[in-house]
Amino acid sequence: MAVDLSLAEWHWKHDLLGSIEVGIVVLNAKYEVQVWNQFMENHSNIVPGFIKDKCLFDFFPEVDEAWFKRKAEPAFSLKCPVFIIWEQRPYLFKFGTNRAITSSNDFMYQNVTIFPLASLTGSVEQICIVVYDVTDQAMNSQGIKTLNKQLERISRVDGLTGLYNRRYWEEQFELEFMREKRTDAPSSVVMLDIDHFKKINDTYGHPAGDDVIRSLAQIIQKATRATDISGRYGGEEFAILLPDTPVANVEFLTERIRRLVEKFTVIHEEHEIQFTVSIGIAGFNQSYQQHTHWLEAADQALYKAKESGRNKVMLAP
Ligand code: GH3
Ligand code: MG
Ligand code: MG
Repeated sequence: MAVDLSLAEWHWKHDLLGSIEVGIVVLNAKYEVQVWNQFMENHSNIVPGFIKDKCLFDFFPEVDEAWFKRKAEPAFSLKCPVFIIWEQRPYLFKFGTNRAITSSNDFMYQNVTIFPLASLTGSVEQICIVVYDVTDQAMNSQGIKTLNKQLERISRVDGLTGLYNRRYWEEQFELEFMREKRTDAPSSVVMLDIDHFKKINDTYGHPAGDDVIRSLAQIIQKATRATDISGRYGGEEFAILLPDTPVANVEFLTERIRRLVEKFTVIHEEHEIQFTVSIGIAGFNQSYQQHTHWLEAADQALYKAKESGRNKVMLAP
């Protein structure tokens, strides 16, 4: 069958291939390059005349030959297209990107389609690789993921102290309570409240009070372990959950916190502020029906510490 492709038609088709903003590569069955369009030339700095009839893998070590052949094989044998998306593999060809430099990447994210090119007899002796630059899409999607992570962190944390906020702390506490119910591990909970805090605010002002709250949070953070869960429960009230820690150990730890606080001085402007804390401890007990019962026991112990003169550690019965 005679095939007539006029020179004019060939010319505009060639122009089309050249101006299109996607990469187009045609490979024969030996994976030798037959077509290499302008986009590919621009991004690889390899001119078509140089790469023509040469094996693709000799030029792009980042393209794993065995992997690519496995991927492209169905286009030859089954005559069906193959898709490679950036979420699976960020790029096929490692091209730079000319976007404003962002800290996270300096390469072009690519979606790639490989499809069979059937000859007039219907057999597939060549495949076409189409490379789409999807850097913007990938960067947006990754930006959203980072933002979500930041939001998640912010939603857990108390702005003044950096400890967990009440909502998140209570969630963790409830989860621990359910675990306790099953395992009966010797976990403990602590409630801690600054003594006569109103007087600190009234004497030195609210910002000074804030400094005191922040200092106490730092003391708590330093004294506890990474596995303990410390939260700001209210204004100047803190809660600490200590998984797998019996009350005897917690008594020792909280007594240390109490003494550290007693000796600590907060410097605010020209003032030297000293303060004390009262502390209540409750070990887990299977008789607690709800997590709130466990926390109430610690709160009552705290109340007793206040009643008996403050600056004390008390244990729930
Ligand atoms: P007690 O020894 O019985 O605990 O006495 P107290 O004065 O500490 O009493 P209480 O716990 O009721 O006082 C809490 C005070 O904490 C009241 C409130 O004005 C103040 N407060 C609550 N949140 C903040 C805060 O974020 N910053 C500051 N500076 N003060 C706060
Ligand atoms: Mg108080
Ligand atoms: Mg209070």
